[in-house]
Amino acid sequence: MSLSLAIDTVIGRVADLGDGTTVTRLLPRRRRRSIGAWCFADDYGPLPVGDGPGMRVGPHPHIGLQTVTFLVAGEVLHRDGLGNAVVVRPGDLALMTAGSGIVHAEESAPGTGPILQGVQLWIALPGDRRWTEPSFSHHGELPEIELGGFVGRVLIGTLASATSPAAVHSPLVAAEIRSRSSATATVPLESDYEHGVWSLSGSVRVNGTLLERGTLAYIAPGATELLIDSAEPSRVFLVGGRPFEEELLLWWNFVARTSEEVTAARSRWEAGEFAPVVGYDGCPIPAPPLPPGRLTARL
Ligand code: MN
Repeated sequence: MSLSLAIDTVIGRVADLGDGTTVTRLLPRRRRRSIGAWCFADDYGPLPVGDGPGMRVGPHPHIGLQTVTFLVAGEVLHRDGLGNAVVVRPGDLALMTAGSGIVHAEESAPGTGPILQGVQLWIALPGDRRWTEPSFSHHGELPEIELGGFVGRVLIGTLASATSPAAVHSPLVAAEIRSRSSATATVPLESDYEHGVWSLSGSVRVNGTLLERGTLAYIAPGATELLIDSAEPSRVFLVGGRPFEEELLLWWNFVARTSEEVTAARSRWEAGEFAPVVGYDGCPIPAPPLPPGRLTARL
């Protein structure tokens, strides 16, 4: 029997990245900290980047996670402390494994306006993989699969019969699912995963519920399929994974377990002990001050 369960909607909050750029933060939220190992999700744009320098996020460190960069429009130049300098284009997957620690910088690729739109997600690494060597992979060729009138592009894991080549460390899925016109689709789901879906563009119904832009639809474990329909060209983003049992401590750009780990990573950054990014025309981002007392998750 196929089951398409009721969805729970979680409204994203507008977050300022500090340079005036605003994004919609869909994870973590008070009502929904994570979905599988997906512990952070920002949805942004379309942002006008044609007239100015565009997006410029200076060198900053990460530990304990993988970052996923996926663009709908525009181009981003990724640089990291391993020496990678890669232009990420719409439809590509950029997957950076921070593990024990990596620094990266991201900026609008030169001359690639006028619009930037995409998502930035973090995957928490499980306990036994948290201190793995840092690495970066860029996937331009990703499998696509027809789902009714939609096309699914599989970024992470397996959807229907298509499997991404990207390496992750816990049971996960991520896909962009798009239509060129009005369409319906039945998307098969792993029943032991929890899932989240949101609209990147267009008006979309998920299991019969209209999804406004900036709202995450959460589907608890147990569902074997998801019904999507749209009356116009549309694009949704789907993430899922087996519920992640480890308690996470997210602070700044670190995914840790304890206050001591965060403090140690912050000290390493402030002491210049991470391998630096070469070639970025700008200053590294200083860590915010530590609050007094033990750290707790900030939402
Ligand atoms: Mn980053």
